[in-house]
Amino acid sequence: MSELNLVLLGPPGAGKGTQADRLRRDFGLPYYSTGIILREAVENGTELGRKARDHMDAGELVPDDLINDVIAERFDSGDADEGFLLDGFPRTIGQAEMLEATLQSRGRELTAALLIEAPDDEVVRRLSGRRTCAKGGHVYHMEFDPPKNDNVCDQDGSRLIQRDDDKPETVRKRLAVYHEQTEPLIDWYTDRDLLVRFDGRRSPDEVNDRIRATLATKRLEAEL
Ligand SMILES: [Zn+2]
Repeated sequence: MSELNLVLLGPPGAGKGTQADRLRRDFGLPYYSTGIILREAVENGTELGRKARDHMDAGELVPDDLINDVIAERFDSGDADEGFLLDGFPRTIGQAEMLEATLQSRGRELTAALLIEAPDDEVVRRLSGRRTCAKGGHVYHMEFDPPKNDNVCDQDGSRLIQRDDDKPETVRKRLAVYHEQTEPLIDWYTDRDLLVRFDGRRSPDEVNDRIRATLATKRLEAEL
């Protein structure tokens, strides 16, 4: 079997997390979300983890080259020999160039950059409708999956709150950062013939079917 080396792109709220869960399950790929692997490096007390923690403790962003090194460490661990699913990196062209060099130096290359798109208004509607249970973290949506009683969790009766990340003004700010920093990556990956677009307004099942079909085709092409 050929490797499936994948990058997930798309605005917040387009359904990347849901698709990542399914891809992990369907293809057995390790999921490298930047937040998760940085936290794991810190917990494991590796040299890179200690460096990352110094930045976090100082309230600074972890520098790109350090994140890239943490990812490279995972590539070299044997976990990712059949492929990987990267989420949250790259977010900028500079990071994409680092990743490309890291893969090239290991004789590997990306299989595809999967872009799950959704218009800004749809993202705001989806995220700002979310309510989270203050106690158990249970998640509802006022429009798509409302609780039986307003602002009360069905499962444990706790109060439902709107997380700061889900407030419309915060969502608009996150989208502005996405458009400015990450959208140029779409052209960058298109130029390299790696970009595949999916319509995040479709149901998660439909998006998943289309991604699976795309990956099956990519694998066939690689084996020809
Ligand atoms: Zn709850």
